[in-house]
Amino acid sequence: MSETFNLYLFKSEKQLTPFLQKEKKEGKKIGFVPTMGALHRGHISLIDKAKTECDIVVCSIFVNPTQFNNAKDLEKYPRPIEHDMEMLLAAGCTVLYLPSSNEIYPEGKPLLKEYDLGYFDKVLEAAFRPGHFQGVANVVFRLLKKVESDILYLGRKDFQQIQVIRKMIEIEKIPILIESCEIVREASGLAMSSRNVRLSEDAWHNASVISQTLFFLVEKRNEFNSIKTLRTEGIKRLKAIPDSILEYLEVCDEETLRPIEIFIEGKPSVILTAIWVDGVRLIDNVLIS
Ligand code: AMP
Repeated sequence: MSETFNLYLFKSEKQLTPFLQKEKKEGKKIGFVPTMGALHRGHISLIDKAKTECDIVVCSIFVNPTQFNNAKDLEKYPRPIEHDMEMLLAAGCTVLYLPSSNEIYPEGKPLLKEYDLGYFDKVLEAAFRPGHFQGVANVVFRLLKKVESDILYLGRKDFQQIQVIRKMIEIEKIPILIESCEIVREASGLAMSSRNVRLSEDAWHNASVISQTLFFLVEKRNEFNSIKTLRTEGIKRLKAIPDSILEYLEVCDEETLRPIEIFIEGKPSVILTAIWVDGVRLIDNVLIS
């Protein structure tokens, strides 16, 4: 027999806080999964992980305007809320927190706190999406203040975002544990993303070359005579994707995100890329540990 679950839907902090306070008083452990909705198996994997470690799992859906540096992208962002609720219910998530924009930004969007995120706010995603991580840091801080969870679950799909959130948490001195979860992929290898629904059928297939390239580079890394030649090969393969514009392909130290010149045994690294395919911006990465 399949289990049946309840999903509490709270649209305001006023509803959310008393519920969570009661649970916390009873010693329940709270896990938090912030999302922008249009949920897929990648998001659900975070809920599943949280369920194994926490008594209460809170998922938030908030399409955060301050992290979009492209108005069209924000406008086109999918918002299938009914479907999302069905997925959360089936996954056994306890609470869906669905705040309004006014609840998160009561003083309006321009009054963002400026975080010193250092190098993480200069390279890779930050270089191509100015202001993006300030928006991310601000929204996650505001959400964490409302949920006050024990553990925060984040996907490695947004690799640099995890570093940024770690930094913000350090700056704000928030007592919370971060769990980073593996990338969930389609059978083709394409990293699941809410933006994938905007790809045409052809582009969807073509986009699988992104992960194939990353896996190829990892597998053959010792056959290249330098990281420079490895990058050149990767760039060539990615640029060959029809209707694509490559933004970056970089090989970096996993912790600092500084580019590396050689692979060092015992020092984890990561290959990261961002590429537009069929007018949709896709990101992916693979870890080399
Ligand atoms: P988003 O809704 O895109 O803001 O993502 C919400 C959370 O889900 C973030 O922590 C993402 O890194 C994570 N996530 C998104 N896609 C995937 C995926 N394919 N696999 C694992 N986690 C993911």
